[in-house]
Amino acid sequence: MELACLDLEGVLVPEVWIAFSELTGIDELRATTRDIPDYNVLMKQRLSLLDQHGLRLPDIQKVISTLEPLPGAADFLDWLRERFQIIILSDTFYEFSEPLMRQLSWPTLFCHRLITDDEGRVVDYKLRQPDPKRASVKAFHSLNYRVIAAGDSYNDTTMLGEADVGILIHAPQNVIDEFPQFQAVHDFAALKAAFVAASDRPLSL
Ligand SMILES: [Mg+2]
Repeated sequence: MELACLDLEGVLVPEVWIAFSELTGIDELRATTRDIPDYNVLMKQRLSLLDQHGLRLPDIQKVISTLEPLPGAADFLDWLRERFQIIILSDTFYEFSEPLMRQLSWPTLFCHRLITDDEGRVVDYKLRQPDPKRASVKAFHSLNYRVIAAGDSYNDTTMLGEADVGILIHAPQNVIDEFPQFQAVHDFAALKAAFVAASDRPLSL
């Protein structure tokens, strides 16, 4: 029995915070886990910037509703779901992801929640658990699933390491250089081939 675990942002959809930064003109919101590997440090910076600029959750959601999945992502997901059970393991928030999940036909998503006050100000966030992607893969192993995982950044590397096979897709060169143990691919055609090769079943492309 095999599961496919995929990261979301940078793999299937654009980096939401970068898109938000471009629309609002707040350059500091461009930072992602590619720039600041410690997710808690990164999120504290983001919440502080939102507060400084008076931006509330509805403002963020309005931007996200204009985004589309990366070209080819929806087709890739349709190809993958014919061959694997799929779980998206993301460090995004349910409050952010809904418009994009709709465009991807609602795959199963494990992520986090934002905490807002009565006026929609984002006052805090609730991480589901520490090191959630790795913990999820460990849990799937306890259910006797073999796991093939793909992601693009630092916050995926413990998931990739815990998985039976870990694959980097769309990763920046510094991540590829730092984690040479993971195969790196750059498009969905190569990712399909990597999943077929990683499977313990005879699959066709
Ligand atoms: Mg990512």
